[in-house]
Amino acid sequence: MKVILASNNKNKIKEIKKLFENSHIEIVGLKDVAFYDEIEENGKTFTENALIKAKTIYDIYKIPVISDDSGIEVDALNGKPGVYSARWSGNGDEANNDKLLQELDGVSNRKANYACVVCYYNGKNDFKFFEGKCYGTIGFERKGEGGFGYDPLFILENSDKTMAEITMEEKNKISHRSIAVKQLADYLLNK
Ligand code: IMP
Repeated sequence: MKVILASNNKNKIKEIKKLFENSHIEIVGLKDVAFYDEIEENGKTFTENALIKAKTIYDIYKIPVISDDSGIEVDALNGKPGVYSARWSGNGDEANNDKLLQELDGVSNRKANYACVVCYYNGKNDFKFFEGKCYGTIGFERKGEGGFGYDPLFILENSDKTMAEITMEEKNKISHRSIAVKQLADYLLNK
């Protein structure tokens, strides 16, 4: 069964494809279906944004869609940047990490979590939503070369490593996205 993953983020596509390898579900990205437009993510929650993406793509292609929306929520910033994580600084990942370090300058509560809501829609049933969270703290400097986004600053709970210092296989066991996608995989593979 072909399922469109409504994302252009190469890292996300790679992470999610890996979770469905060896199954009957073939994940294709937006580029594979020649969709190059920007989908406006104007929702106020991860769930709203995931729904907007799933609906937009399903309405065009009429093929089942997986969409996700994710971000980082920092306790001392009242959950910010949240749904604005990707565009927080307006200048990409490096500038986002600089901004995070600045905002937490002198702040001792470094607790944060990643959150992800995955949506599945096949045009027949209701939209299905699955949520995953992954907890940690924000470091004082970048560490590691792996992952993407805020990973070099995100120190995993019960570990001294950042999300950028572990392998993709390790990340895929614990990440917010994998927790959410695994619930979806359970739903799709066992129904
Ligand atoms: P989305 O593509 O709209 O879901 O935006 C997700 C944004 O949240 C990314 O651009 C990153 O800034 C941040 N983010 C989400 N998941 C991760 C992750 O696994 N590692 C690092 N940053 C992440």
